[in-house]
Amino acid sequence: MLQITDLHATIADKPILKGLSLTVAAGEIHAIMGPNGAGKSTLSYVLGGRPGYEVTSGSVLFEGQDLLALEPHERAASGLFLGFQYPVEIPGVSNLQFLREALNSQRTARGQEPLSGGEFLKLAREKAALLKLDPEMLKRHVNVGFSGGEKKRAEMVQMGILDPTFAVLDETDSGLDIDALRIVGEGINAIMRASGKGVLLITHYQRLLDVVRPDRVSILADGRIVRTGGPELAQRLENEGYDAVMEAA
Ligand code: ADP
Ligand code: MG
Repeated sequence: MLQITDLHATIADKPILKGLSLTVAAGEIHAIMGPNGAGKSTLSYVLGGRPGYEVTSGSVLFEGQDLLALEPHERAASGLFLGFQYPVEIPGVSNLQFLREALNSQRTARGQEPLSGGEFLKLAREKAALLKLDPEMLKRHVNVGFSGGEKKRAEMVQMGILDPTFAVLDETDSGLDIDALRIVGEGINAIMRASGKGVLLITHYQRLLDVVRPDRVSILADGRIVRTGGPELAQRLENEGYDAVMEAA
């Protein structure tokens, strides 16, 4: 459902992605691991369409359509969700306002009726319960004063409400304690483990992969995918480190 071919991208004229190719099939959870500075977050921003990230060549097909030709909001409306490594704070806007606005603008773009206040609140409470996030937190301003773990959980509540077909999750496990890691991992499974969906799961840690069992694992190094394998590849990285595994490749 996602097909990236020979993608090159620059930030401020500096080449970061250097011929990255990767395919994720429908129903697949694909983990991306790789050293710091390899270009993992850059890949997620390029997929989301963040300004300042320039694609110089290559292509990205999402469910057969040219993803790079779409505006960021059109990408979201077509079913793409991005979970950020560093979720942003939005003072002055409550989580509930933000999420209802986001969901209803996506529904409108898809030709669906917007949800009423009551319907939306029921959905939001249901997803907060799934992520064991106190629903009172949804009344607070987006991420303002949230702990690292609360931000990540709130982001998974957002994912549950928007119910995307494809999620790119950038180090969703960073800053989580062991219990929160399990809750977030199980949330990802509950929301995204479905035959028509797909996930790119960027992570450094086997612990998240013990909960969200990936179908495929790829190593991203120096702007390209240098190796793809099954879940055992993540285990090898954990045991031996990037240098040893990449040297052997
Ligand atoms: P990863 O997520 O794999 O750790 P990133 O995609 O965040 O790596 O970064 C890849 C490279 O791009 C790094 O060398 C980083 O310093 C560089 N980079 C990221 N953002 C910018 C920017 N705004 N300006 C210049 N270089 C950047
Ligand atoms: Mg990163």
